[in-house]
Amino acid sequence: MDDAGTLTAKTADARTEHFDVLIVGAGISGIGAAWHLTHQRPGTSFVALEGKDSFGGTWLTHRYPGIRSDSDLYTFGYRFKPWTGTPIATAAEIRKYMGEVIEESHLDRHIRYGHRIVSASWSSEKNQWLIEARKVETGEAVFFTAGFLWMCQGYYRHEQGYTPQWPGMSDFKGEIVHPQTWPEDLDYEGKRVVVIGSGATAATLVPNIADKTAHTTVLQRSPTYFIPGRNANELADTLRELNIDETWIHEIVRRKILHDQDAFTRRCVAEPEMVTEELLAGVRAYLGPDYDIDTHFKPRYRPWRQRIAFVPEGDIFRGIASGKASVETDEIERFTENGILLKSGKTLEADIVVTATGFDLCVLGDIEFTIDGKPLDFSKTVTYRGMMFTGVPNMIWVFGYFRASWTLRADLIGDFMARLLAHMQAKGAKRVEVKLRAEDHNMPLSEWIDPENFNPGYLMRGMHLLPRRGDKPEWQHTQDYWHEKDIFPKIDLDGAEFVYG
Ligand SMILES: Cc1cc2nc3c(=O)[nH]c(=O)nc-3n(C[C@H](O)[C@H](O)[C@H](O)COP(=O)(O)OP(=O)(O)OC[C@H]3O[C@@H](n4cnc5c(N)ncnc54)[C@H](O)[C@@H]3O)c2cc1C
Repeated sequence: MDDAGTLTAKTADARTEHFDVLIVGAGISGIGAAWHLTHQRPGTSFVALEGKDSFGGTWLTHRYPGIRSDSDLYTFGYRFKPWTGTPIATAAEIRKYMGEVIEESHLDRHIRYGHRIVSASWSSEKNQWLIEARKVETGEAVFFTAGFLWMCQGYYRHEQGYTPQWPGMSDFKGEIVHPQTWPEDLDYEGKRVVVIGSGATAATLVPNIADKTAHTTVLQRSPTYFIPGRNANELADTLRELNIDETWIHEIVRRKILHDQDAFTRRCVAEPEMVTEELLAGVRAYLGPDYDIDTHFKPRYRPWRQRIAFVPEGDIFRGIASGKASVETDEIERFTENGILLKSGKTLEADIVVTATGFDLCVLGDIEFTIDGKPLDFSKTVTYRGMMFTGVPNMIWVFGYFRASWTLRADLIGDFMARLLAHMQAKGAKRVEVKLRAEDHNMPLSEWIDPENFNPGYLMRGMHLLPRRGDKPEWQHTQDYWHEKDIFPKIDLDGAEFVYG
């Protein structure tokens, strides 16, 4: 590294370590990628670089009270490692499960923590990536070359969440905190807390703090769908009573959950009004007939356009029914010294305001990419099934499902990658890239995802950063596990969209 911080070929040569594959990140996707390489491609040399000081990604970053999954762990868990706990799990339980995967497959020797990747440069001359990372503790630059990059960087910036700017925020005398950077010593006992936002984070946080606070108010611009239910899986419990092997239970329960989710998704499209009524009836059962469900819990969008959070034991609704928590559906006019003035003219007094307002989309782990010296503009590429990109050689990218568990896709991509590496080896290829075929050249291109289909805030805010989508399934990130699970294993790796070298 010279004084200007530019990579010089000389320095890189002197220190560079080489691996067949370099995995970016040690969250649930990165650990999964390491497992797939170890088990499906033994003999492949690889390293996983992780900026944090431990594994877990999302489940390490988020430490607000009550942090838990909002989908079931039978499907959020890997397909290869049985989940034996309750369907909804805490961050600690998810990390324990990931820790077992690391230990059982001896993955720790492949992971380097405290290594933040800052740049990745593809050389067509060498058919490899040159990666520059910084040791977080010392700032020391370290260099790696790799034949393939497996991007498991997640979809949002871990350092801080997204907080909109409202007028008067600096006048507010209390504390403003984002759940993603929850201060460990935050004292909310006996305080008046306003939580802005009503997504899965707010639904998790509120029941876990409300009892201790003087009062907790959920302030939402518009309502969200929830599915309240027991944190148990009857089928799993029955199979356990019958002493069925956990490996079988995992597979059977996954199939049953996926079958039911598929049916539910179809109903959301076919009969959205009926599904809405059913979801609202679930909420009404906790809040009683007199509660104004239509104002506070009837969203303006049809079910499934945003992720629907499962609420174990209906805990947020119990908090509301008990009077410890309440919901305001309104908009913020401005912050004041003592709280928030709403557009309706009402004031919410607060000692603490929690901005559960979402994430800051980060599509390539804040890594500066160049291809043969030219900066990569990711938004100018076209996606190949949401995992490869036109003009970007030897890179696979893991972006999971929103409607189904993220990890289902991480596993499908793991299988695809193992097959692709084997295929390249058989062909003696050092490079693979996707390319629009002759029949794709006049294909209309549009935004990464159809906002009519799925439209959470962080995606809408960051859509301009994401690759383009075509009008054929090959060039789309379909968000359809049930289609992809059948299609991915059959992808013809010698199809015209793959170019090898
Ligand atoms: C609070 C919360 C709850 C969620 N609950 C669910 C759920 O129940 N079900 C579900 O399906 N999804 C859920 N999600 C979505 C969730 O993020 C994903 O399902 C999943 O955990 C993502 O895993 P990942 O490994 O792909 O990415 P992450 O968990 O984001 O991990 C990425 C890792 O890569 C590292 N990294 C990134 N860039 C670099 C770099 N340049 N250099 C080195 N390291 C880097 C990061 O430090 C991080 O550790 C939830 C998300 C949040 C925030």
